[in-house]
Amino acid sequence: VYNFSAGPAALPLPVLQKMQAELLDFKGTGMSVMEMSHRGTVFTEVLVRARDTLRRLLNIPSNYHILFMQGGAIGENAIVPMNLLGGERTVSDHVISGAWSIKTQKEAGKYGESRIIANADDGQGRFTYYPEPSSWQLSDNSAYVAICTNETIHGVEWYPSAELTARIEASGSFLVSDMSSHILSRPLDVSRYGVIYGGAQKNIGPSGVTFVIVRDDLLDRAQAICPSAFTWRNVADNDSMFNTPPTLGIYCAGLVFEWLEANGGLTEMAKINDAKAKLLYDTIDNSRLYRNDVQPTYRSCMNVPFFLNDESLNQTFLDGALAAGLAGLKGHKMVGGMRASIYNAVSMEAVQALVAYMQAFERQHAQ
Ligand code: PLP
Repeated sequence: VYNFSAGPAALPLPVLQKMQAELLDFKGTGMSVMEMSHRGTVFTEVLVRARDTLRRLLNIPSNYHILFMQGGAIGENAIVPMNLLGGERTVSDHVISGAWSIKTQKEAGKYGESRIIANADDGQGRFTYYPEPSSWQLSDNSAYVAICTNETIHGVEWYPSAELTARIEASGSFLVSDMSSHILSRPLDVSRYGVIYGGAQKNIGPSGVTFVIVRDDLLDRAQAICPSAFTWRNVADNDSMFNTPPTLGIYCAGLVFEWLEANGGLTEMAKINDAKAKLLYDTIDNSRLYRNDVQPTYRSCMNVPFFLNDESLNQTFLDGALAAGLAGLKGHKMVGGMRASIYNAVSMEAVQALVAYMQAFERQHAQ
């Protein structure tokens, strides 16, 4: 089956096969990796290796910590303000670009003042573009500016420029991005952000692990109420082992990082992802049955929502897709229609199979 689910999502087959082979006896220990002490040398090596491979893949500068945590990206929506609003600045600025940035803004409001500085909502809950930075009403006293660079539900993707980062940092603030659904899809200039975070269950590994990439000078701004297990300083000082980490998930994430590295790293991944996305969007744009409403510049390379012009065909489309081995295509309930999530583990062959099915379906139902 080709799995187009938005998350938890497909994992690379070689990674699953390696996990299966190692499940009962991890590296000759006679134990499964999830049965052993997280503080023992065998697991410590797994964690350090995962972290170091991620640093190489994303070229993460040495003045950033990589933390593996828990609580999902929604948990991080609270953990971020608790860690960043404990100093003199207690305001967070938020750019609203879809469902996930809305959730982030609401959650941050529990821990400080969370201001909306730009909003792409068309008034009916539809998002088809990313607000232009020139329109952002930046506060002069914000601790940070929160963005979501890939909106998983609405299929809107965008990256900040170096100029924008410079402008924000000149005001004493910095960018914080939720990158749950497109981290590792292409190379990234980490230095443009103070913090990057997300859940693992799209491009990294199983749900239950989160990643936080945080600039060292931001580790000591936590509010007093921040739980010790969620205080980045504690997690950083204890190499992501302040408390028992999600060991199986970190092990799996490490295998995914190694799979990426062995397959040409993120430059290669970007080429494949661009080709997959182009094939799918071209198919949609050249059809009379399918439609994607996002402006071309902001279309996500990872999450492709699309609609059938005749919505009465939705269930027939989904049933036929499943019968053809194409799973997870139902759109999010907030927007309806279909959504194909084409993360790193979804191959070009999978997208070709989807496109062939879509075209055959259109021919069959042409009026
Ligand atoms: N942020 C983004 C961009 C997401 O796509 C998701 C999940 O799909 C979340 C946050 C929520 O993640 P979790 O369910 O791990 O808390």
